[in-house]
Amino acid sequence: MDDNCIFCKIIAGELEGSFVYEGDHVVAFMDINQPNHYKVLVCTRRHIPMIYEINDEEAAEVMQVSRRIAQAIQRITDCPGMSVFQNNGAIAYQDVFHFHLHLLPRYEGDDRRHRNVEAREVLDRLAADLRTVLEASY
Ligand SMILES: [Zn+2]
Repeated sequence: MDDNCIFCKIIAGELEGSFVYEGDHVVAFMDINQPNHYKVLVCTRRHIPMIYEINDEEAAEVMQVSRRIAQAIQRITDCPGMSVFQNNGAIAYQDVFHFHLHLLPRYEGDDRRHRNVEAREVLDRLAADLRTVLEASY
């Protein structure tokens, strides 16, 4: 755990997070920044800044969970497409240095600059919806 990392604090339960998945090596939760509802962050439990530091078990779980969550998001939202991206580190002008993938449903006419900051109750409800569909897929 990195004491300065907001994601490590969310994973440790020191900060609030609306969890979608909690596995052996990977967790997934919703961020307060929701350009579209059901944006999910999939991250390793370990504080690993860059993808080349992930081990095989972590890599496998990141991709398997991301695929299942993406399918659950698509089923709930019927979105025509989804962005999956990784953008970590100071070189990418980020202030969170903990490896994570973004899963973001996309629609016609999306404004990429638009950011909705959602209330925790909204995120908890969306995360519960997603968990229900996700758990049914296992
Ligand atoms: Zn961290």
